[in-house]
Amino acid sequence: MIQFDQVTKRYPGGNEALKQLSFSIGTGEMVFLAGHSGAGKSTLLKLIAGIERATSGSVLVNNQNLSKLRSSQLSFVRQHIGIVFQDHKILYDRSVFDNVMLPLDIIGFERRDAARRVRAALDKVGLLGKEKMMPVRLSGGEQQRLCIARAVVHRPTILLADEPSANLDRAYALDIMELFKSFHQVGVSVVISAHDETLMEDYGRRIIRLREGQFAA
Ligand code: ADP
Ligand code: ADP
Repeated sequence: MIQFDQVTKRYPGGNEALKQLSFSIGTGEMVFLAGHSGAGKSTLLKLIAGIERATSGSVLVNNQNLSKLRSSQLSFVRQHIGIVFQDHKILYDRSVFDNVMLPLDIIGFERRDAARRVRAALDKVGLLGKEKMMPVRLSGGEQQRLCIARAVVHRPTILLADEPSANLDRAYALDIMELFKSFHQVGVSVVISAHDETLMEDYGRRIIRLREGQFAA
């Protein structure tokens, strides 16, 4: 469960990215986050992930008040979260397999079990068989799938995706959405942002619309 209570985020330099936002997202819910560029979507996802901290108000994730946690405790909460970043953050000097292994290395997962997990995650996104390839050889859609495999390999309870379909053709974008839906169907809470609402409308899920850091109608 994710709960924002009167959350304001002001970046150094004075820009208020989120203004007194209150809402909650239930366990296992799939929610879309809409709004133009600059509306505050990435900031909201970063607050859930504990990458940024609220300037005021409280952010609760799985019953933990992130605003009150020390960074060591924050990294523990992060182990239950998977993120698909807008800028991919793929390591191009490492194989597909090693990219997906990364989160498990950080957690300190036992190596043999980790390899099995990596293959399960790659299988889930349809990339099994390409694990030895270097990421540059993957298509744009496949690179996005790689990011999703890396985001779910540690079996998070919350999956966040920042504009995962931004640079994809509609058919590929829909494939990616179906993939997120499949994680939602096994009980994972999923929050997906996009500036193009047409992709969301077919899914009949709640859409949180942001404009200049506030809810838009
Ligand atoms: P979106 O994801 O909807 O495009 P963002 O959350 O990235 O919106 O940005 C919201 C606002 O916060 C914008 O005005 C943006 O310029 C500002 N912003 C985002 N990140 C930073 C940062 N690191 N430092 C200063 N301002 C930022
Ligand atoms: P395994 O075959 O490794 O034992 P499970 O039977 O636990 O995997 O899960 C079946 C599939 O569902 C696997 O592909 C796994 O990656 C995926 N899966 C299960 N739980 C989650 C989760 N919380 N997040 C993402 N994927 C999951």
